[in-house]
Amino acid sequence: VVEAPSAEARTTCPYCGVGCGVLARVAADGEVIVRGDPEHPANFGRLCSKGAALGETTGLEGRLLVPEIGGREKSWDEALDLVARRFRETIDRHGPDSVAFYVSGQLLTEDYYVANKLMKGFIGSGNIDTNSRLCMASSVAGHRRAFGEDIVPGIYADLEEADLVVLTGSNAAWCHPVLYQRLLATRQKRGTRIVVIDPRRTATADESDHHLALDPGTDVLLFNGLLAHLARTGAVDDDFVAAATTGFADAVGVARAEASSLADVAAGCGLAEADVRLFYELFAATERSVTVYSQGVNQSAHGTDKVNAIINCHLATGRIGRLGMGPFSVTGQPNAMGGREVGGLANQLAAHMGFEQSDEVDRVARFWKAPAIARQAGLKAVDMFRAAGDGRVKALWIMGTNPAVSMPDAGRVRAALKDCEFVVVSDVTRTDTTLHADVLLPAAAWGEKSGSVTNSERRMSRQRAFLPSAGSARADWRIICDIAQRMGFGDAFAFDEPAAIFREHAALSAFENDGKRLFDIGALASLADAAYEQFVPSIWPLPKSGGQHRRLLGEGRFPTPDGRARFVAVRQEGVALAVDVHRPVALNTGRSRDQWHTMTRTGRVPRLMANTAEPTLEIAPQDAAREGLADGDLAHVSSRYGFVRAKVSISANQKSGSAFLPMHWSGQFAANAGAGSLASPLTDAFSGQPELKNVPVRIFRE
Ligand code: SF4
Repeated sequence: VVEAPSAEARTTCPYCGVGCGVLARVAADGEVIVRGDPEHPANFGRLCSKGAALGETTGLEGRLLVPEIGGREKSWDEALDLVARRFRETIDRHGPDSVAFYVSGQLLTEDYYVANKLMKGFIGSGNIDTNSRLCMASSVAGHRRAFGEDIVPGIYADLEEADLVVLTGSNAAWCHPVLYQRLLATRQKRGTRIVVIDPRRTATADESDHHLALDPGTDVLLFNGLLAHLARTGAVDDDFVAAATTGFADAVGVARAEASSLADVAAGCGLAEADVRLFYELFAATERSVTVYSQGVNQSAHGTDKVNAIINCHLATGRIGRLGMGPFSVTGQPNAMGGREVGGLANQLAAHMGFEQSDEVDRVARFWKAPAIARQAGLKAVDMFRAAGDGRVKALWIMGTNPAVSMPDAGRVRAALKDCEFVVVSDVTRTDTTLHADVLLPAAAWGEKSGSVTNSERRMSRQRAFLPSAGSARADWRIICDIAQRMGFGDAFAFDEPAAIFREHAALSAFENDGKRLFDIGALASLADAAYEQFVPSIWPLPKSGGQHRRLLGEGRFPTPDGRARFVAVRQEGVALAVDVHRPVALNTGRSRDQWHTMTRTGRVPRLMANTAEPTLEIAPQDAAREGLADGDLAHVSSRYGFVRAKVSISANQKSGSAFLPMHWSGQFAANAGAGSLASPLTDAFSGQPELKNVPVRIFRE
């Protein structure tokens, strides 16, 4: 209980990639009151059900309050000394690749920056990966193939300036609610047409003008068919293609061979020919078209190809980098984009530089004065946990994420955590993952920590503390710097505030930057503490002097060696695992409207739990009838990786042969209910992102 109400803090929601601004204060009775920030350009005062309930998540229930070693409470010094010593000994004995960090899109950019610097610059391994690998790694890989760098060409305002918005593999109504509300509000005035492409009839599909319930894994065929249609009907922007791209002929050649007629596409995608025709004609005729895509595209063993199939259609029509048009990936987490910027993915270095070019590696090494710069990519998430299980990774530090539930083949991940020699977990609450920790480090939660995040439209915003840390919890960046200093890397990690880390992050982006790179945020390298504190939400690249931000790709030049975007010829590869007589149903996974990730925060709010109190398996009437299942029955769902039990809900929203299980539940909230236990660890060859959807399962009555 505080004695006087606090002033309102201007911060951001820690949930999805929309990145809504939040005003938060502590009332005299200690209650935390939140409201949408009317001045934040992502949400203009709106909040969804999850954001509006943030004040109810700040209690101490379940919080980690003091460090623990082997389940016993210890001092910070004892815990930090042990972690630093075990990591140092492991590296000395087995080399830098015997240790790994698995981090999170929940980390702030400053946390991400020092974690990446420690692993890639000072330990000397690429073994730092993030749970964003499960979220948008295929978009990153697709952007790099097409544009040369991980550029997100669109901004939210494009959805409000478009005449056609295609949402593919995106249940935005539930997963990016405020952005979706902005789209619906615009439609009222502008008459925007909305097409939803999704095997499932979602809340988003309900509001659409046209819903294409394609068969799982047929997205490439659908967009190849669109590319062939654009070429066939004269809808290609020949001038743009000639001046600003390469590879058009190859991509169209493959698309034409694969999708020679509308009838072929319709048959291959499980759609009516009239629906395919309507979509293609609408896209061809609508200059201002935005294609929004999300996990239904990315979470696939062929997700990168799907991304490029979409981008190909925008390149062919020259609809990219201009008002109201473009392909647009929306991220699942609040700071997935900030993690991308500092190199939180195992295959990126820092400031969007990579391992492929040795001059970039050398540049980062010079800037960091790194004693042991990593020269090659590290283990991506799925491989990292395999390596923890088979002994190649002997010391693993997990920060702010719950892989024991969220990873595919989660049973094997839990076994790997048990087998790994030394597991450190720094987190806010106890989770299924903390059960496996040798050392637990209590981290500061939302409301207690300060730093910055970047949302899906590249808008940097501040998260600001307005609560004291619970117990002895510390900010993630401080914990990481404490360990780095104990490992002997003192000066390079002598930060005393997040603003100093932010300045170094910005300075690295500008370091030896010849002006060709599009990610120059060097203007922020000299940001004073007071200016960092007052920082207003801003899209990067920042304008040189006042005025509007510069639209990425607006000048038709791309950060490839020849300045041209690349068409990528992609072929339809289908799903990683096909259904068969033993497992005849394709299980889809995703979010519920009111829950977030593994429910460590939203699961503690009664009004959010009230809507969906338990995990429910949505199943098509035909499949339910075949198995003799009725509404409310308990079903046993098994894949080749594991099994779960869930209550049945028969729904015409499911196509026959498909089912849906929310991703959120775990042992903490319902026994045997984790969708991750069922999911396949098969990954995309380019992005390493696993196919968390389309899992062949058998469903029967318990
Ligand atoms: Fe938070 Fe996303 Fe909801 Fe905005 S839309 S309030 S960022 S969960």
